[in-house]
Amino acid sequence: MGWRRRGACAIVPAHWRAEVSGRAAGLSPIVGGRQPYGVVMRSEFLVFGKPRIEEDEIAEVVATLRSGWIGMGPRTEQFEWEFAAYTGARHAIAVNSCTAALHLGLIAAGVGPGDEVITTPLTFAATANVIVHQGATPVFADVDRRTQNLDPARVAERITPRTKAIMPVHMLGRPADLDPLLDLARRHGLTIVDDAAHAAEAVYRGRHVGTVGHFTAFSFYANKNITTAEGGMLTTADDAAADRLRTLRLHGISKDAWKRYSADGFVPYETIEPGFKYNMLDLTAALGLHQLRRAEENLRLRERYVARYNEAFAETPGLLIPALEPLPPGDRHAWHLYPVLLDLDALTLDRHGFIEALKARNIGTGIHYTALHLHRYYREHCGLRRGDLPEAEFISDRTVSLPLSPALTAADVEDVIAAVRDVLAAHRR
Ligand SMILES: *Cc1c(COP(=O)(O)O)cnc(C)c1O
Repeated sequence: MGWRRRGACAIVPAHWRAEVSGRAAGLSPIVGGRQPYGVVMRSEFLVFGKPRIEEDEIAEVVATLRSGWIGMGPRTEQFEWEFAAYTGARHAIAVNSCTAALHLGLIAAGVGPGDEVITTPLTFAATANVIVHQGATPVFADVDRRTQNLDPARVAERITPRTKAIMPVHMLGRPADLDPLLDLARRHGLTIVDDAAHAAEAVYRGRHVGTVGHFTAFSFYANKNITTAEGGMLTTADDAAADRLRTLRLHGISKDAWKRYSADGFVPYETIEPGFKYNMLDLTAALGLHQLRRAEENLRLRERYVARYNEAFAETPGLLIPALEPLPPGDRHAWHLYPVLLDLDALTLDRHGFIEALKARNIGTGIHYTALHLHRYYREHCGLRRGDLPEAEFISDRTVSLPLSPALTAADVEDVIAAVRDVLAAHRR
């Protein structure tokens, strides 16, 4: 087992010595910073969600710059074809964020003022914000505590004559249970716009996510599984909608208008409807082309790190491990995030204290998520209070995401494990 050479631990408490002695050889002197006594510690801060960028991406970006065509163009089209081929989606429409893709998905679903859209409270703000942008009302339904995904039974309870769409999120990369939601959609004439920001590689009952819901939005934000720094993709099987969406993502002008300055010569175009400035750039598609080709390899790396975390944390008093929840047959988890839930009754510190203690040990973490109905805007506008969505609140109060990225080394993962164990050992009731 290759212990990290540079860095690793500084002062090792007695109860740790056996386990981390392998790194003693790699001990680095304590330099700067606060280092509480008895703390297992790496020498440099482990950034949460670090992207893995290789020479291929760098060369492609440089080639794009040198090509003289940096806006939307041939690389964006190529990326769309390759993403469609990867997911099996009939249409893949590249945009500049997942937020843009979600917004366009709601427009395609015909969501407008007065409508209601049912979604999960356990998501990033963008999922619900775009509902508000369309003048509609987000209606939060509770999640299943084990999967962290929308509970179809809770969704069914919240359908009204005003409901127009359902927005499930494939939380953490784990596919949401789409079949019962599609069934509700069929019975009530609703559209499924699924948020696959975490889930580019996910498979639901043998079908790639992006081919199951009516409109699926992917994110290529800096810390996502596939990154273009900023970017997104919208997939659909609906030909007419895809035509319209290609227009809407570029000002609402006729769909091949980006070619108007190309070697094909000027193509006359006109404004078909007032659209948006949501297009992807070739400069960022250049990153995406190579990120996509490495998606499966990067997933295998994350799977390996997840297995190691699971092995290290299973049966650890003080922690609940969502990743241990088995997947149904035919599903594949995209492993975007690895959260642990703190058993607050078993610990003498709260979540903030836990995060600070990991930070003091040079480990960056994240919170995914504080349930949206507890955020100020939604608290004031969605008519829900603490206590109304108990499953989401249970997760929201306890969750801490540990580093999980293909840019990590196996030694980084061991550092995280050592730091978590150290914090727990120091703060167990
Ligand atoms: C990152 C994220 C988004 C937004 O993605 P952008 O590409 O930054 O717009 C939406 N939903 C979820 C669940 C996310 O994690």
